[in-house]
Amino acid sequence: MEKTEFFVCRCHDVSHQLVLETLETEENEEHVVYGCFHIVHLEFWEKLKCAMKYIFGRKCKDGDFDALLLRPEDSDRLECFANYLDDSISAPDKQTDPFHFTFSSTDNVYEVSFDTYQDKLKDGSILTDSELSVCVWMKPGNLFYRLYRAAKYLSGYCSRYGDFDSFEFVQNDAWKLHRMVSGLRAC
Ligand SMILES: [Zn+2]
Repeated sequence: MEKTEFFVCRCHDVSHQLVLETLETEENEEHVVYGCFHIVHLEFWEKLKCAMKYIFGRKCKDGDFDALLLRPEDSDRLECFANYLDDSISAPDKQTDPFHFTFSSTDNVYEVSFDTYQDKLKDGSILTDSELSVCVWMKPGNLFYRLYRAAKYLSGYCSRYGDFDSFEFVQNDAWKLHRMVSGLRAC
């Protein structure tokens, strides 16, 4: 199966995008889904705050770069990649319990979180909403690495692949994509 799909953010900022791709595979060859995440820098003062926290070994709440919120209407397209990795796993229909897991590229750590939150509206009623977010942090390391990385971060470095960071999902990671699908179906 050869396939490329774009996933843009729920906030409609098209610079927040994730690309998933598969290549043609021979029979018995392991299936791999290649991911590419467009990394968008925070505003300068936010970046400075994240860089300082990072140096001291702490994490900025929503990531060191802009986050991506996956859109519920993309669940079917995402499921196609999940099934390509392993279609024998059946994820729960709709996952309503919060979850999070991480995966990594060479330079960054990604955290996928499904959260449900409640908003109190003006008329006193409670609105429950859920979102599936992908947040990105610089990889942890020792103090020397953190100083070096923070300096590169402030000068605009995102990853060794430039603004489009890359990672892979192998067949053992299929549950991650399946879980994202069931989270999206509950959004
Ligand atoms: Zn966005």
